[in-house]
Amino acid sequence: MKVLHTSAECYPAAKAGGLGDVVGALPKYLTAGGNTAAVILPKYQQKWILEQQFTIVFQSSFRLHNQTIFFSIEKIDDEILGYPFYVAAIPGKFDRPGIYADPHSGYPYGDETERYICFQQAILTWVKSLIEKPKIIHCHDHHTGLIPFMMKHCPEYKILKDIPTVFTIHNGQYHGAFSWSKMHLLPFFDAEAYGLLDWNDTINSLATGVKCAWKVTTVSPSYMEELSYNSLGLENLFKQEKEKCIGIINGIDNEVWNPSTDTFIYKTFEEDIDDFKAENKKAICHRFKIDYNLPLITFIGRLVGEKGADLLIELITRFIGNGNKAAFVVLGTGDPKLKEQFLRLKEYFINYYDTSLEYNEGLSHQLYAGSDFLIMPSRVEPCGLNQLYSFRYGTIPIVRTVGGLKDTVIDIGDDNGRGIRFNNFSISDIYMAASRAVSLYENKETIKEIRKRIMKLDFSWEQSCKNYLNIYKNLDSKF
Ligand code: ADP
Repeated sequence: MKVLHTSAECYPAAKAGGLGDVVGALPKYLTAGGNTAAVILPKYQQKWILEQQFTIVFQSSFRLHNQTIFFSIEKIDDEILGYPFYVAAIPGKFDRPGIYADPHSGYPYGDETERYICFQQAILTWVKSLIEKPKIIHCHDHHTGLIPFMMKHCPEYKILKDIPTVFTIHNGQYHGAFSWSKMHLLPFFDAEAYGLLDWNDTINSLATGVKCAWKVTTVSPSYMEELSYNSLGLENLFKQEKEKCIGIINGIDNEVWNPSTDTFIYKTFEEDIDDFKAENKKAICHRFKIDYNLPLITFIGRLVGEKGADLLIELITRFIGNGNKAAFVVLGTGDPKLKEQFLRLKEYFINYYDTSLEYNEGLSHQLYAGSDFLIMPSRVEPCGLNQLYSFRYGTIPIVRTVGGLKDTVIDIGDDNGRGIRFNNFSISDIYMAASRAVSLYENKETIKEIRKRIMKLDFSWEQSCKNYLNIYKNLDSKF
């Protein structure tokens, strides 16, 4: 393998959001282009992982404070994903049904720090043993943000210090920070490297990743810029490290997200866009008890403040409450309090609003295919994949002008428009955007034109891969 991707998510093995999509697709397209890229993930008790045949390729142990943690590295026998896929089996740490949270209660597991320190040590202990080592180690998000530090400053792993590391931030809202009182969980490190772990008196995995990785990327140019004025306390760090940071827009996996072959949806796309949208919308309206004649505005995503789920509740309440002719469907899971509010709305707006409060991959495809509009009122949006999927299925995005949404959605008021944008995170702005969608829906010819245009857009991985390859080549001239 030339590149080893280390991550907490990878579709289809374990996905909670965009991180899973990206780590599932980037290695596939790198490998297809002749640059073998492997992935290593924790061995969760997730359905897909449980269904695979694994072979143990390495077994060892490491220290976690005064315990010895035994683990094995296992590899899938067939290369069904198009690239080598490994898991770290660490008994007691990841053999649970959820990725980050208990699926029954919805609350996060309380031992995140221990779990991911174990995962990172298991990876490095294994990589140390490899005769042919990866040329690049590519870490994703805070869960693997300590790896570049450990490779440079922990005597146990220093043998790996010359392997270049890339650190990609998919979500800068989560820092994986923990108190210095847990320092004993880390492997021994050089005392003078203390400052590289510290940010505002805590050990901050995201900040350490940014400081120690050879190159830092995030998933859109606008988000890269935004991090230097809005990153929950890391603003100055991003300003300081500006020179080694770059934003690269994510691609989408056109094999998985293909309206012509998608096995999740009711009717695949052949030639007739109207027919494709109408049939899929009928199925969705039936499934969700929604009036078919209304423009259907859908939300898919995590129900958290970052995604603007609270503003969406306010919009639905006021917009339908004021007698506007539009329907809303919400597919999502997340904050238990927000979930309760979304559920309660159902009682008030029969035929106009419905929701499914779950994570459901197949249903998300059906909604991308069957909706007229997809709404993304994000407070923060590093790249956003939903708008790219919605383009592909002829669904017009309504987005707040932020992060990757700003970089990918052109307003329909401008040349070659692709969606409806609004600037401020406010009820008046989003209300106006929804009103524009309702008026647009009346104009069938314009809608058809926009659908045709967005379905042709190319956000495939090929371009993004070239950008990552350039980074790898700059870090290792023999790559
Ligand atoms: P995030 O910040 O959550 O990573 P992205 O836009 O980058 O946001 O990616 C979200 C991905 O997760 C998309 O593939 C979206 O379809 C999927 N997704 C989010 N919530 C759900 C859900 N409840 N059911 C199915 N898919 C979901």
